[in-house]
Amino acid sequence: MKRECGRWGYRLRGFGYKCTPGRELILEILESTDEHLSPEEIYSKVSIEHPEIGLTTVYRTLDMLVNLGVVSKLDFGEGKSRYELSEHHSHKKHHHHLVCNKCGKIIDYSDFINEEIEFLNKIESKLGKKYNFKISSHFIKFDGMCNDCI
Ligand SMILES: [Zn+2]
Ligand SMILES: [Zn+2]
Ligand SMILES: [Zn+2]
Repeated sequence: MKRECGRWGYRLRGFGYKCTPGRELILEILESTDEHLSPEEIYSKVSIEHPEIGLTTVYRTLDMLVNLGVVSKLDFGEGKSRYELSEHHSHKKHHHHLVCNKCGKIIDYSDFINEEIEFLNKIESKLGKKYNFKISSHFIKFDGMCNDCI
């Protein structure tokens, strides 16, 4: 069963990588969800369409996509990584995270408080000067307990 290279496939080719059904499917899965998926969750979705693709391939593909900057690897402190499309390739707006340490719920928010933006801008410009470092992005996560768990 051969299928045409889709939109993601062409992007992969642009990066010098072959377009394979597994790679495309992983990108489509990440694109179609608002969740932050673990490799296991991605694998179980991939298996529905491509049972021949193993978990190791999913891990390897995710590593490759992270290296290309297409996918972001997120650490929510659960001892496993989660993945989402990187901001540059996602329809999701830049967002920060509220993570419930009890049930694992992750709330993405992009309706930032004004002070939050001011604070981050100030920090980034001061850190940039201090370390002569050009900051291009940040990952913000607040831990705590959600409404259901308090
Ligand atoms: Zn931000
Ligand atoms: Zn909770
Ligand atoms: Zn997120």
